[in-house]
Amino acid sequence: MSKVLCPGSFDPITVGHVDIIDRARLIFGEVLVAVGRNSTKSYLFDFETRVRLAEESLAGRDGVEVAGFEGLLVEFAKERGVIAVVKGLRFGADFDYELQMAHLNRSLTGLETVLLPAAAQHATLSSTMLREVARLGGDVSAYVTPVVNQAIKDLVAPPAGRR
Ligand code: ADP
Repeated sequence: MSKVLCPGSFDPITVGHVDIIDRARLIFGEVLVAVGRNSTKSYLFDFETRVRLAEESLAGRDGVEVAGFEGLLVEFAKERGVIAVVKGLRFGADFDYELQMAHLNRSLTGLETVLLPAAAQHATLSSTMLREVARLGGDVSAYVTPVVNQAIKDLVAPPAGRR
């Protein structure tokens, strides 16, 4: 059994991410989901919330662990003993970006990358578009887990007492 890393911003985690994580676990046995803290990005959910929503969305899955990370991905991968990074590929733009990242990471420490095609039903789903729909009050329940859907509702229309 091998351990692989599924890194990302997960702002928030979607059913597309969960699908890649589940498939990576079936192939490799163990998956470490790494939620990045990148101070230069502007997020919908803060770091602690992104980690918590990933944990709660993936709760009960054997062989899946969630961790927050900051800094160089290749160093984190070395520290945690993963054999490769697994990323999802939706369309051409993902491929161009991921290929560049894969070459960079391999040349830095030898860290390998495995690219998995997104499931057809999730191939156009992105956290960026989902955040936009959520901000405008649209229903995103088909694209996220129930805990994330609730967190988005609370953010857009906070429960009385937290307004
Ligand atoms: P970032 O935008 O910072 O790269 P994301 O959290 O959006 O990180 O995504 C992390 C990884 O998940 C990326 O490899 C991305 O290709 C993949 N991913 C995102 N959405 C989907 C999806 N709907 N289906 C498959 N893979 C996805």
